[in-house]
Amino acid sequence: MRNLLDLDAAGLEAFVAGLGEKPFRARQLLRWIHRRGVAEFTAMTDLARSLRERLAGAAVVAAPPVISDSTSADGTRKWLLDVGQGNAIETVFIPEEDRGTLCVSSQAGCAMNCLFCATGRQGFNRNLTTAEIIGQLWWAEHALRAQQGVTAEHERVISNVVLMGMGEPLHNYNNVWSALRRLIDPEAFGLGARHITLSTVGLVPMIDRMADEGLQIGLAVSLHAPNDELRTQLTPINKAYSVDELLAAVRRYVAKTNRRVTFEYALMAGVNDSPELAQEMAHKLQGILCHVNLIPLNPIPDSPFQPTSDEETERFAQILRNAGIPTTIRLRRGIEINAGCGQLRRAMAASGNGRRGVKMQPAENG
Ligand code: SF4
Repeated sequence: MRNLLDLDAAGLEAFVAGLGEKPFRARQLLRWIHRRGVAEFTAMTDLARSLRERLAGAAVVAAPPVISDSTSADGTRKWLLDVGQGNAIETVFIPEEDRGTLCVSSQAGCAMNCLFCATGRQGFNRNLTTAEIIGQLWWAEHALRAQQGVTAEHERVISNVVLMGMGEPLHNYNNVWSALRRLIDPEAFGLGARHITLSTVGLVPMIDRMADEGLQIGLAVSLHAPNDELRTQLTPINKAYSVDELLAAVRRYVAKTNRRVTFEYALMAGVNDSPELAQEMAHKLQGILCHVNLIPLNPIPDSPFQPTSDEETERFAQILRNAGIPTTIRLRRGIEINAGCGQLRRAMAASGNGRRGVKMQPAENG
């Protein structure tokens, strides 16, 4: 059975051609699947009955199965999805007054091995397929529409997507990009590129490749240290791409897309939170169209890293602001903090264990 969530418009055209149908049927299918969230071919009433029957015999629309689905008091909703062989990923929806943001995972586990991140500790299992990435969005929109009673095709519950869940999205470039193109296809999900943000720990060649795609996808870079000595300790990818190389790639990205880049910085007490490092960072970021998000670390069990105090966090922020770098302190409050990948997941875990009341599953570590 072919999972139609794996196919873009061209792929669907080829698929329906294989069933002896005209290409425009693919567009109809895309609308049913992505704009109306319909998985049952029998419900696709503008398709001929004979085609519906052939589709039912040859294809499915299948998102990863849901292991758990929980909603906190403030409306944050989280799904743990089964991607097989003992691997689970999470997808989180955060409703806000003017938007609904979905945080999507791109890999089961992560190969980047950042020292302070539990997903990194867990190691890399595998890349998610395009269908598994798109499937998170498909499932979430489908479930949220049902929850909120939304039926109009042009209405969307999810207005923004951030690739900040489990994994390093640029380490799964082809599948992630294929999913992103489906997200912005007006016949499919139809989200504006500016409503999508991809968070990376700094795969420089892939940032350049992303800049050449010609889409105004938002870029968030998990920096965590302003110099190579410290950053290499915290994020081993820095051995391959130095801070200066990373910042040069960010400058190129800004030049090509004209989009402001976000730097995520997880503050760890006594590790990367000194005033000297703040000064160094302010110096390094001069001239870059950027914004800094400071996130006091969400500690993981058995880790020596602890969050910076509120006072020290404010001092670090003030140094950046005094140097003209727009800076926001993000608290551990879920997705609106736009924290870096594994940090975000920890942020959600922290909120789940406290104010937000979302229960984390044992399988989730990052
Ligand atoms: S912080 Fe992000 S890139 Fe680093 S190990 Fe965790 S999930 Fe991977």
